[in-house]
Amino acid sequence: MKEALSGVRGLVLVNTGNGKGKTTAALGTVLRAVGYEHRCLIVQFIKEKGVSGEQAALARLAPEAEIVSLGRGFVGIMNDQLPRQEHIEAATKALAFAREKIVSGAYRLVVLDEILVALKLHLIPLSDVLELLDARPHEVTLILTGRGAPPEIIERADTVTEMTEIKHAFQRGIPALRGVDF
Ligand code: ATP
Ligand code: MG
Repeated sequence: MKEALSGVRGLVLVNTGNGKGKTTAALGTVLRAVGYEHRCLIVQFIKEKGVSGEQAALARLAPEAEIVSLGRGFVGIMNDQLPRQEHIEAATKALAFAREKIVSGAYRLVVLDEILVALKLHLIPLSDVLELLDARPHEVTLILTGRGAPPEIIERADTVTEMTEIKHAFQRGIPALRGVDF
């Protein structure tokens, strides 16, 4: 199903910083867009299928919303045993998949969740992400999330928000809470 794009210029948004709220703010924007029956795609880097509430919730917003989780989990932390090359391959495939969908013109909003983490971990090259921003049809809105947005991305984005951590429950030893943190 291909929605005719409206001709209205889309935006590039970046949600970055160390505080909580980058992914959830992007998902809030999806919720808003679905209200106008805009087709939305969420491509998750790093995160695997079956690890977050948003995956099941977005399935209920079909057909306007679609989520595809192409990561292989935490990279080099927690109990990650996977060779780094496999994380590189997963992120490379996620980027190619996202590019194909973005240039197809079938989506008004595309969220590249944790793409900035994949970039920071050098799983994908900055030049490929910049090229993707250049390839974006002008009606498509992109939201990039993750800690550590590099200056080149900030420079090209229209709206950049840095979530600042003032306090996080995790610092008091409180583990991630289902339905709130994942
Ligand atoms: P959310 O998905 O809740 O919007 P986020 O996208 O801003 O969070 P990420 O860096 O992607 O944050 O982290 C994902 C997970 O880590 C979430 O469970 C989130 O609650 C948790 N988290 C976010 N910020 C912090 C923090 N400062 N300290 C510890 N854990 C955090
Ligand atoms: Mg996140």
